Amino acid sequence: MNCPKCNKEMSPLQAGEVQAKTCLFCKGLWFDVNALEKALEQKWMPADTTPETSAEIKNTVCPECSGSLISVKTLGKPYLDTLACTICQGRWIEASEFKKLAPDSLWQKFKIWLSR
Ligand SMILES: [Zn+2]
Ligand SMILES: [Zn+2]
Repeated sequence: MNCPKCNKEMSPLQAGEVQAKTCLFCKGLWFDVNALEKALEQKWMPADTTPETSAEIKNTVCPECSGSLISVKTLGKPYLDTLACTICQGRWIEASEFKKLAPDSLWQKFKIWLSR
């Protein structure tokens, strides 16, 4: 399975209780349907969120099933940008997106401000 961004082979990654795949170059992550949600529930964070390449995503084809990847904001976290496959529902997420979940992030502050 190749990274939709760099087209390089992705490596398996244990994200809390779920299996994910990660690209060692752009640090992007691929999750199966529900796996991302589970990882987020468990407040899992990737150890390394600094990409070695800042390449824009070129290939919007699912690395799993060749379905189309579309931009979605779900999971009760509308500030997270993810790509979802229209066929297998797999999720692509940039490692840097996880930074928005850090308790001291601007996004969390914004969320708290919104919920007032
Ligand atoms: Zn990549
Ligand atoms: Zn797919």
